[in-house]
Amino acid sequence: MPKHKKKSKLKKSVKALLICLVVFIGLFLSILLVYKHIQSNKMKNTVEKYIKKQSLTQELDGKKKDINFSLNSPYYAIYPNTKNKSIDKIFIDYKNKIIKNYSKKSLFDSIKNNNYKYQIINYENFLAPDDIISVAYIESNINSKGTLINENVYTLNIGLKEKEKLKDSYIFVGNYKEIITNYLIKYFEENGYKLNKNYKKVINSKYNYKYILTNNGVVVYFNSNEVIKNSKKFIKVSIPYEEFNGIMNINLENINKKYDDSVKLEYGKFTKNEKFMYVKINSNLYKENSKNSKLVSTVSKGTKLNVTESNKVFSKVKYKDKLVYILNSSLSDEIIADSEFTDCNEDVYAIDKIEIKKSKDENSESVGTLNRKDKIKRIGTSDDGWSEVVYNDDKGFIKSNLLSLTEPSDFYRGNISANVNPGKAMVAITFDDGPNPSSSNRILDTLQKYNAVATFFDLGKLVNSYPDVVKREEAIGCEVGTHTHTHPNLNNLSAEAIQGELANSKEAFMKALGHDVSLIRPPYGNANDFVKSQLPYPIINWNVDTLDWKSRNKDAILAEVRKVGNLDGKIILMHSIYETTADAVEVLVPELINQGYQLVTVSELAYYKGATLTKGVKYFGF
Ligand code: ZN
Repeated sequence: MPKHKKKSKLKKSVKALLICLVVFIGLFLSILLVYKHIQSNKMKNTVEKYIKKQSLTQELDGKKKDINFSLNSPYYAIYPNTKNKSIDKIFIDYKNKIIKNYSKKSLFDSIKNNNYKYQIINYENFLAPDDIISVAYIESNINSKGTLINENVYTLNIGLKEKEKLKDSYIFVGNYKEIITNYLIKYFEENGYKLNKNYKKVINSKYNYKYILTNNGVVVYFNSNEVIKNSKKFIKVSIPYEEFNGIMNINLENINKKYDDSVKLEYGKFTKNEKFMYVKINSNLYKENSKNSKLVSTVSKGTKLNVTESNKVFSKVKYKDKLVYILNSSLSDEIIADSEFTDCNEDVYAIDKIEIKKSKDENSESVGTLNRKDKIKRIGTSDDGWSEVVYNDDKGFIKSNLLSLTEPSDFYRGNISANVNPGKAMVAITFDDGPNPSSSNRILDTLQKYNAVATFFDLGKLVNSYPDVVKREEAIGCEVGTHTHTHPNLNNLSAEAIQGELANSKEAFMKALGHDVSLIRPPYGNANDFVKSQLPYPIINWNVDTLDWKSRNKDAILAEVRKVGNLDGKIILMHSIYETTADAVEVLVPELINQGYQLVTVSELAYYKGATLTKGVKYFGF
């Protein structure tokens, strides 16, 4: 039926229409999605392009330059203080990787100690310390909607090393963000922008802008779509540096001063501390109590300084009539050896009566005297044979060969020459019964001519008669011992008589030389056990007898020596009172030297052969 057919046709139309509508809506939604996607990508690309290309390319000095936010960026901001003191953990990261967690204290200790040139700090956790000014610059990441994803704050310590880098930089000291937001609000209002109702709140609450510091001011790139009606653009606003007056500091000296002041504050107040101190290592002297301050001079190790005041880190010292500063760590209360001395710390003994010199120079002023056996503290030795000692709370200098690490015996033994070669053969010639003004002096002439030494066992009685000869013996480096006062056979004497001989002899040597001797040769070599117990000296006999007293013949004397094969360590007996002996010595001395022998004193022979001379003990050779 047609009517029915008509109705059916209508139903079909409605159905088709509905299908069309669904398809249309679907198509519309698809197109919308694609559009949104394109828009989104376009926005993202635009933002990225803007940030990466435009915002990072700024006019510097009228020329376009790429500014890379790298660690070497010359742009920095300073955060001098924190308002939130409760957070004390700081994360150091680099390229989103946490390198180290720091407590606030350890971070700034590390900054202060210059262990880290750069401190890269995640902004979310960043807090500048209360007590230090750190330098930082900010790296911001903004997403496609122009919202800040994150900011990285790169900081570095301000020190002399960084000064050059920071020379042309603009540096904030204080809350720059407040100034930027206030400036933006003012800028949008005054320039007739149609603003959203909540624009102030948005600007204040969100850091949805990016800024960089240029030579022409702070340039802010602001995502305007939440602030300005119908705006989808980033807006670039330049804020002149004048706006930051009071919190921006482009004067590096001021910044260093602020840094120094904060550090100085931590170092504590200077209090009176008047004393002398010594420089431990070669050190700097500063004009101010800061390592960043001007260097006045350097002082070498061992320098004595007059300290007037100190705090925890620095001491104020007088230096060439000026007051300057030095690190406490460079100073010592103890006397420190001068820089050319090798440090030591030991007790040493004077081996003779010696003068202590003011400087390392034999001609310098004498600051004191030591007697034989006096103990003194040695703090340094030099390669050229000097010792630095502490004397009367000050420094003194003594030739090292006049000092001994072991306490000298009760008696004088003469200087042990440092010129002896212990590895080379040596022999000691000894002369008894002198001094004799003629033959003794001839023997001394020969010894002196060949720069050789010997030992003279002199009689006290003759010492009294010819003191100048004995003095000469010692003066040319020979050793002097006693042969008693009057040449008795000690084995026949009582204790009192022996002591009388010794006392008279000692008096004679004291008078002639200023000191007693340290060796004895008993007449005839005689010393029985009782005599030995009576003698306060080592007893020196011989193992080569020239029989010069008997032959009185030069060739016979020489023959006695020549018949001994090896003379190393031997003691040769001669007498200084015969001209024939003096004749023989003129031949013997050069002959022995030519054979390779070193002519040494008895004490030297004992010393270099490793013997310790002991009183009452008889020695024949070493
Ligand atoms: Zn004799």
